[in-house]
Amino acid sequence: MDKEFFRQKLLERKEELEEILREIKRDLSGVSRCEVKDEGDEMSLFMEKYRSEQLYRQQSAELREVEEALRRLEKGTYGICEMCESPIGEERLKVKPYAKYCIICKEIIEREGR
Ligand SMILES: [Zn+2]
Repeated sequence: MDKEFFRQKLLERKEELEEILREIKRDLSGVSRCEVKDEGDEMSLFMEKYRSEQLYRQQSAELREVEEALRRLEKGTYGICEMCESPIGEERLKVKPYAKYCIICKEIIEREGR
């Protein structure tokens, strides 16, 4: 497996996510300073804030996964399923470089709703 390729991919994604998170943070802190004219404004502001916060949670969860994957690369356990310890297919890693589980275990986990 070309580890450098995946390291590069992970680092790129990490930078991307950090940039997105910075932007959302900026947006969120800007919202409170905006002038609220009426209840309609307040509502849409609230919705916007809600969406931003959700996005923020999603993106920071992904960032954690990416950082974990980078640590696994350092430890030499990258690309190995955490459940069954068999190698995660390279095709799968290309689509999702921070995948923790092989496709079979992932399906089991999703079916169990964990
Ligand atoms: Zn597995």
